[in-house]
Amino acid sequence: MKPEKRSFILGNGRLITLGEENRIIRNGSVVIEDNLIKDLGNTEEMKKRYPDLKFLDVKGKVIMPGLVNVHHHLYSTFACGISTEPAGNFVEILEKLWWKLDRALLLDDIYYSSVIPLIKCIKSGTTTIIDHHASPNAIKGSLKRIAKACKKIGVRSVLCYEVTDRNGSAEAGKGIRENTGFIKKYGRNQDEMLGALFGFHASMTLSDKTIKKAVKAMADKNCGFHIHVAEDKADVEDSRSKHKKPVVHRLQDLGVLGEKTIAAHCIHVNEEEMDILAQTGTTAVNNPSSNMNNAVGTADILKLLQKGVQTGLGTDGMTSNMLEEVKTAFLIQHHQKNDPRVAFVEAVDMLTKTNPKIASRYFKHKVGVIEKDAFADIIVVDYYPFTPMNEDNFYGHFVYGIGSSLIDTTIINGKILYQNKKLKGINEEKLNATAATFAQNVWKRIQDQ
Ligand SMILES: [Zn+2]
Repeated sequence: MKPEKRSFILGNGRLITLGEENRIIRNGSVVIEDNLIKDLGNTEEMKKRYPDLKFLDVKGKVIMPGLVNVHHHLYSTFACGISTEPAGNFVEILEKLWWKLDRALLLDDIYYSSVIPLIKCIKSGTTTIIDHHASPNAIKGSLKRIAKACKKIGVRSVLCYEVTDRNGSAEAGKGIRENTGFIKKYGRNQDEMLGALFGFHASMTLSDKTIKKAVKAMADKNCGFHIHVAEDKADVEDSRSKHKKPVVHRLQDLGVLGEKTIAAHCIHVNEEEMDILAQTGTTAVNNPSSNMNNAVGTADILKLLQKGVQTGLGTDGMTSNMLEEVKTAFLIQHHQKNDPRVAFVEAVDMLTKTNPKIASRYFKHKVGVIEKDAFADIIVVDYYPFTPMNEDNFYGHFVYGIGSSLIDTTIINGKILYQNKKLKGINEEKLNATAATFAQNVWKRIQDQ
C-alpha cells in the first residue's frame, strides 16, 4: 500500500514566489502535495479548488521560498568559542585554526557538528545547503555521517569531501574514494534530499597528480567539482610559482572547470580568469563575511557578473543565516567602491535568483522558488509590511524588513519542521548538550596536537 500523501494548503499570507518573474500575491496560498508544490494563487480560489484539503492559516505573514546557501562548512561549528593562537594572515588562520580543528574530528564529532548548524538553517529559513567537508583523520564514512545528520534534521544538502595533498598522497586517495563512493549513490539527482559534488580543498594544497586522478575518476559522472579558488593571494602565488600560471588557468588545463563546478571565493582572479570562468560556465560563490573575517580581500562581484560569470552567495561556515549574509554582500561592495549605489540589486539577485538555480542542478525538482512542481521548501516570515510593498520595491523589504524579522515556519520537502517558532520532532537542547560534550573532546585533541 502506498503511504498517504501529505497534502495541505498554506495560505492567507503575502505570497512571494521569487524566481525569474517574482510575483507578490497579496492574499496568497500554496498547495502542497507530498513533497512538491501542486498549485498557488489567491487564497479563496485555492480553497474552492481544493475544498477537502487542510488549511494552515498564516494570518497575513509572508510566505516565500526557503533560502539556499551555496557554500557552507558544517564542520566549522566546533570553532565557536575556541581559543587559538593569533593568526597574522590567511595561511596562519588555516594552520592555527582550521587544519587543527579538521584533524581533530572523528566520525561521531562530524555528526554532531552537522546537526547543530542544520538546526540553525531551519530556524533562519535556509532550506538547502551546499557543504564542503574536511576531516583528515576520519575520511571514510564522513559524508555518510553528514548525510545522516541532514536526513535526521531534514535540510536538503549537496555534500562533498575536500581532497587535499597537505597530509600526503595516501590521504588524498582516501578523499578521492570518499567522494566517488558518495557520488555513486547520490550523484545523478537520484535522491530527493541529498546531492553530491566532488570536493577539492584549493589549488595550493593539491598536486597535478591528485587533480588528474580525480578528474579521471569523474570523467563519466556529469557531476562537477567544488573548490576554493583564489581566496587569498597565497593561492595565486603558489600556482604562479609552482605551475607558472594563475589558479583558474591551472584548473582549466586540468579539466576541473565546467557547468556543474563551483569555485568558491574568486577574489584574486584577473579579467582573463573571469572570462575563462564565464566561458566554461563555472559558478563563482561570494562569501563576504568570511572574506572580511579572514582579511583576504573583496571579490569584485560586479566585474564577475559583468563578465557573465554565474555568481552565487555562500557563508563559508561563518553562519547559516542567509539574510545576514546578503546584507554583508552589498555593504562590503558599497564600502570597497566608495559608492552607495552599487551591488544592492546584484547581491539580492545572487541569493534569491542565482542560488536556487545553482542548487537546483543537483536535484530532480527546482528549489528556492514557489512554482508548480518545485520542491515544497517554503518559509513563513513574521513580517507585516509597514510601508507599501510590491514587486518593484520588494528588494528593499527583503533586506530591511524580512531580513530583520523572525522566521515563523519552515517547511522542507513538504514536511513542517518548524512552526510558530518551535522545532517539531527535534530536541535541540539535548542535541546541543551532546554536541558540547563532543566539542570538548575535539578541543582536547586540538591542544594535544
Ligand atoms: Zn570554504
